[in-house]
Amino acid sequence: MKKLFIKTYGCQMNVYDSDRMSDALAASGYEATTEINDADLVVLNTCHIREKAAEKVYSELGRLRILRKSQEAKGKKMMIGIAGCVAQAEGEEIMRRAPVVDLVFGPQSYHKLPELVGRAANEKVVETDFPAEDKFEHLPKAKRETTIARGLTSFLTVQEGCDKFCSFCVVPYTRGAEVSRPIAQVVAEAQNLVDGGVKEITLLGQNVNAYHGLDEMGNSKGLADLIYRLADIKGLDRLRYTTSHPRDMDDALIEAHRDLDMLMPYLHLPVQAGSDKILKSMNRQHTAKEYMDLIDRIRTARPDLALSGDFIVGFPGETEEDFEATMQLVKDVHYAAAYSFKYSTRPGTPGAEMDEQVPEDVKYERLQRLQELLNAQQKEFNQSCVGQTFPVLFEKKGRDEGQIVGRSPYLQPVQVDADLSLIGTIQQVSMHDTGKFSLFGKIVT
Ligand code: SAM
Ligand code: SF4
Repeated sequence: MKKLFIKTYGCQMNVYDSDRMSDALAASGYEATTEINDADLVVLNTCHIREKAAEKVYSELGRLRILRKSQEAKGKKMMIGIAGCVAQAEGEEIMRRAPVVDLVFGPQSYHKLPELVGRAANEKVVETDFPAEDKFEHLPKAKRETTIARGLTSFLTVQEGCDKFCSFCVVPYTRGAEVSRPIAQVVAEAQNLVDGGVKEITLLGQNVNAYHGLDEMGNSKGLADLIYRLADIKGLDRLRYTTSHPRDMDDALIEAHRDLDMLMPYLHLPVQAGSDKILKSMNRQHTAKEYMDLIDRIRTARPDLALSGDFIVGFPGETEEDFEATMQLVKDVHYAAAYSFKYSTRPGTPGAEMDEQVPEDVKYERLQRLQELLNAQQKEFNQSCVGQTFPVLFEKKGRDEGQIVGRSPYLQPVQVDADLSLIGTIQQVSMHDTGKFSLFGKIVT
């Protein structure tokens, strides 16, 4: 067996893709390793969403150049491949900046990986076309033992790409137009995961609630329909989905949160900013009030739902007053968790061409203020869980001896002193304390 080492950057969709690459290459005799020094093939699965994320790849390539040299001195060959959104966006440019790279391939080519790796043994290969065929049709199923080794929770990509064109975002360019997988294909993959012991599936998409896959009759169905179909799979206990766009939160999905217990009461619903002027120039296609009204409707349907979001500070033209509107929106919503970023100029997006770019020190200072507020809200949310009892799916051993760790319905890690035999089960746990991000509890018999 040859050894494959994949380093994954960025979002959950890249985590899912790395597993698919590993499955595709298993057929050509590659076995995954966590030890880079053993690798015959190193793949960096990259992220292009912010400048820092993209630049990390080039620093890693500097380290890989040295490693490859020392491997060559020992008579060992090591091939280097670049996958993901940097590969898609920069293509040939990567080879120019880093001649150590043998193979560059975009997210739509993962099913062709065995052939591409074969070619790259003799020549430099760059593959960034959007092929006509459905890559998911051609990607092999994960083997049962591989699924078991990957654990009890799994990601499953149900749609890719995005047609929203937010003016700050590279996704529509790197991942292409929005494409949804047919329902039967998703159900078959979910069944395969459950057969390998998976209890919780998180459905993924750059814009997952824009899902509109075809059913067996050729009718277009929304995310709620897909969720109900998956809910019928015996042995599957929990479903989640991410990331959603406020514009695509339809009534059926909100009702699913009300009616379907296995759909976890946690929703990642990015708003990005609280000022209508900024939302408009970001091309988010909704106002702050529309977002707040939507939150009200979702919370009426499912009162215990925990919310998380994404925020960008320092988008071009953002004044102190605009930023205060973001702070106010956060205070009004009360998030359970959140991700916040300084605006990063992405070449080729409309935001990069806008006047009134905000200075770095202003972005930095605003981000500090926003994160302080978001961290306080997360702490408050975790503290509000103390004294409550809810079901926890135990996933693995904890850090300390005699401890196991699982996830609450609200996605918090929960640590409990209990026997390892409870891993893989859902237990009612009463919460008695909080750490920085996790909860501590006791199993209620
Ligand atoms: N589709 C999701 C949505 O509509 O909110 C988000 C997908 S994007 C991969 C994840 C997050 O990265 C975004 O929600 C946004 O907050 C952040 N992001 C995207 N482009 C960015 C940029 N140019 N600078 C800073 N953050 C950015
Ligand atoms: Fe990017 Fe999300 Fe906007 Fe699509 S909806 S352009 S993925 S931020």
